[in-house]
Amino acid sequence: MDKVWLKHYPDYIRKEISIPDEPITEILKKSITHYGDNPALYFYGNEMTYKRLGELVDSFTAALQQEAFEQGERVAIMLPNCPQYVISYYGILQAGGIVTQLNPMLVEKELEYILNDSDAETIIIYEHLLPVLRSIIENTSVKRIITVNFEGKDTRDSVAIEFNSFLKRAKQLPVEVAFNPSEDIAVLQYTGGTTGRSKGAMLTHRNLFANVLQTYEYFRDTMELGKERTLTAIPLFHVYGMTSAMNLSIFIGAKSILLPKFEIQEVLQTIKETKPTSFPGVPTMYIALINHPDVEAYGLDSIRTCNSGSAPMPVELLKKFQEKTGAKILEGYGLTETSPTTHCNPSFGNRKPGSVGIGVPSTDYKIVDLEEGSKELPPGEIGEVIIKGPQVMKGYWNMPEETENALRDGWLYTGDIAYMDEEGYLFIVDRKKDLIIASGYNVYPRDVEEVIYQHPAVQEAVAIGVPDSYRGETVKAVIVLKDGMKCDEEELIAFCKKNLSAYKVPRIIEFRKELPKTAVGKILRRQIREETV
Ligand code: AMP
Repeated sequence: MDKVWLKHYPDYIRKEISIPDEPITEILKKSITHYGDNPALYFYGNEMTYKRLGELVDSFTAALQQEAFEQGERVAIMLPNCPQYVISYYGILQAGGIVTQLNPMLVEKELEYILNDSDAETIIIYEHLLPVLRSIIENTSVKRIITVNFEGKDTRDSVAIEFNSFLKRAKQLPVEVAFNPSEDIAVLQYTGGTTGRSKGAMLTHRNLFANVLQTYEYFRDTMELGKERTLTAIPLFHVYGMTSAMNLSIFIGAKSILLPKFEIQEVLQTIKETKPTSFPGVPTMYIALINHPDVEAYGLDSIRTCNSGSAPMPVELLKKFQEKTGAKILEGYGLTETSPTTHCNPSFGNRKPGSVGIGVPSTDYKIVDLEEGSKELPPGEIGEVIIKGPQVMKGYWNMPEETENALRDGWLYTGDIAYMDEEGYLFIVDRKKDLIIASGYNVYPRDVEEVIYQHPAVQEAVAIGVPDSYRGETVKAVIVLKDGMKCDEEELIAFCKKNLSAYKVPRIIEFRKELPKTAVGKILRRQIREETV
């Protein structure tokens, strides 16, 4: 299909973007010039201007460079959302280092694996996580530890130095580094690891710069330069948080309001106090917001755009959220490997519930057959979505075979099953590996979940395949009910029978108080499957 989606683009949006031959750090430099006195970051009542952020980033870079730091060195960050995160991120990049982002919830084995795979010698870590690091540090190459605490303590020993003391070591301005933006890796972004060994996606400076420009271009009618306020409760270490709070926000001169985690009451209170204009979220966050008893009292309508990504947004929820709060949800799609955004429902045109929208500028995509991946399929047919564009990663770190498998002829094989309609709108059906095969029929968990979400008592739902001696696999649904609501297995199965073909109807229903989730808020299907079998 010949880029049919481009016909939806209004004239003011460029279909192809030109990416400057500059490192991603240029976006911060330009915002310091244009919006120097504007707030760049907001954290629990404290604001930091762009100018101040720039000074601290310079100190970080200079302090790092004083330590025989070499361009291309990997530096790990293991922090919750906080200003020190943003300072470290830009400080490392400006020194020519490679940022390796770590989930603060990693357990010893996972941390050891990533530190060794990336061979990081320096880590910036939340002080409370030191015991985890210390227990495995002997097996890694870590030589420098920079600790962050919010209590103002200045703790040091022979290896660890507190963040502010580290900054004070800077005796000069940073030394300027020469970049080759299309080759130099900016971020080593480890994939979730929920599906086996975690892989380090190599995202270059050009990849990140491209994605900033692609998303800016696409959403430019919703943004006013130097005026926006983005509320970020999704983690910065995840590629979605990184791009919205540290890349796009900085590029548009916005105030980035940081919260270390999504805690519903705190999020609502912060919305009331800071009146954000945009909110990047994931479906489980919207579920929590919509089910709060007096969500309307917190003025969610200051938020002009709520982005949703990372996982499918149930259509029922999308509609209810908008009715109740007046805030518009734009569902998008992307992957770690694509820095991350490739698709979104347009703010300028038709939004199709259930679809992740059309490609952002300079992004090409098609649906190919699930077996070989070589035959392009026509609109309406289900296959694997493959993507090409300047935001597609360079490859996986030290994994040539996996790289060859994922990147063929410049096309990224996403592992997502999807179809496209005649107008180029993309509909994600499921992950290839989440497909349930019951009695020889393909059951896409999402089809089942969409129906279950229509039941008024259901708060969260996940459909998985469980082994069945007769059918091969059978569908099981794991459900969390809304507070104070009742519904039993029989009623839910009867409800599904009315709305689904027989082979898709769950045969087993399990009720739980909560579902396990990743740090970004995605439901951990694999864990639920493992717990169930
Ligand atoms: P990650 O690399 O952790 O960002 O995960 C990327 C994966 O999340 C994609 O390959 C999809 O399976 C899934 N994903 C992202 N956005 C959506 C969406 N809007 N709808 C359905 N799945 C999504």
